[in-house]
Amino acid sequence: MQHAVIIGAGHGGAQAAASLREEGFQGRITLISDERVAPYHRPPLSKAFLKDASAGPQFLRGPKFFAEHGVDLLLETRATALDRGAGRVELSNGGALEFSHLVLALGGRARRLPVPGADLPGVHSLLSLADAEALRAALQEGGDAVVIGGGFIGLEVASTLVGLGFKTTVIEATPRVLGRAVAPLVSDHMLRRHRFWGADILLNESVERIEGDAKGAASVVTRSGRRIAASLVVIGVGMTPNVALAEAAGLAIDNGIAVDERLRTSDPRIFAIGDCASYPHWSAARRLRLESVQNATDQGRAVAKAIVGRAEPYRAAPWFWSDQKDIKLQMVGLSFEADDYVLSGDPEADRFSVYHFSGPRLVAIDSINSPAEHMLGRRMLAAGFSPTKETARGGATALKSSFMQGAT
Ligand SMILES: Cc1cc2nc3c(=O)[nH]c(=O)nc-3n(C[C@H](O)[C@H](O)[C@H](O)COP(=O)(O)OP(=O)(O)OC[C@H]3O[C@@H](n4cnc5c(N)ncnc54)[C@H](O)[C@@H]3O)c2cc1C
Repeated sequence: MQHAVIIGAGHGGAQAAASLREEGFQGRITLISDERVAPYHRPPLSKAFLKDASAGPQFLRGPKFFAEHGVDLLLETRATALDRGAGRVELSNGGALEFSHLVLALGGRARRLPVPGADLPGVHSLLSLADAEALRAALQEGGDAVVIGGGFIGLEVASTLVGLGFKTTVIEATPRVLGRAVAPLVSDHMLRRHRFWGADILLNESVERIEGDAKGAASVVTRSGRRIAASLVVIGVGMTPNVALAEAAGLAIDNGIAVDERLRTSDPRIFAIGDCASYPHWSAARRLRLESVQNATDQGRAVAKAIVGRAEPYRAAPWFWSDQKDIKLQMVGLSFEADDYVLSGDPEADRFSVYHFSGPRLVAIDSINSPAEHMLGRRMLAAGFSPTKETARGGATALKSSFMQGAT
């Protein structure tokens, strides 16, 4: 009998299990999770969950879903080794599972900050439900907070902390916030908004050490010599993909577990999806490893198709969102290719989009409080449609009519 084993029950793994059944997979499915609860939505952990002391995890599927769909969900169980020759996964509980197909949906772990004091009580990172529960408990204490890293998670947490009345400082090492992901104009806008809301944001600054007192973290000392009082420190400097299991089994690694465009690792019986996998992107002509719910979920669906023999090259247009106070930021496409940006809408009204062009080609769109423009952007990019810069400047109405006519 066929047995699909999925290691990791986050957004990608849970979707892969559900999609296998939707695709008609008749064999056994086992979903292995080292966490203590059923698969849950990760994005709320840096948003609503922190603000509401009584909130529990938001589960990805109903309580009976896995049992009803014949998926064995093993909680608090770690896959500790892969024996590729025998087609076997070894487990932390001493057991082992034999597989016909294996999906690695391992996510990553929070990147550590290599500075003295990073292990003090009061210093938090945020990746899992357990991390979010620890951070939320610490919020009850109040005090001054420092957030290290001005990326999505750092800024989402900062806006929550400011809203809860914390004196909050964000320390960002580069010249702009969200620098890896959005257009410079959007970075500037978010910087202004966070400063207006009350956060102190330091750019081009990094951390020398975290100093403690009898209770734990007490202050953060920056490279330029500032000492900032902080009983609460949140480190948001990105994540590192979990590749150790694959690497020890001899699978190819390249900024994540390397897969082909059908999500197969260097061993064709083993697939990898989501945050832990890097894949050759059809338009970017390079390998990408994306960290988003959309990517993990779409790859979960694609891997199920591959397992039942209906593999299609994975070609989804990547999109992402971030909620910061009253701003909904939505992005679609690959912004690193851009060499020019076109603005439509009004930044002063907190409602605009920035169109990223590489030469004449539309490659990405950032939208602030403009969900309709984001949705249109997703359709345009999926269809490979590039409007002229002039049309993009005209915003949703001009773009829609141009897209409908198939014109540029
Ligand atoms: C706080 C936070 C906020 C976010 N906000 C957004 C957002 O607003 N929008 C967005 O698009 N994305 C957001 N993301 C990113 C998004 O959640 C991830 O990209 C997504 O969860 C990736 O799914 P995944 O299945 O690849 O990995 P994960 O969801 O990380 O799941 C991997 C699972 O595998 C488990 N695991 C690892 N190794 C083993 C092992 N050996 N044995 C058993 N289990 C194992 C892990 O514990 C984990 O449960 C956010 C992430 C975080 C942490």
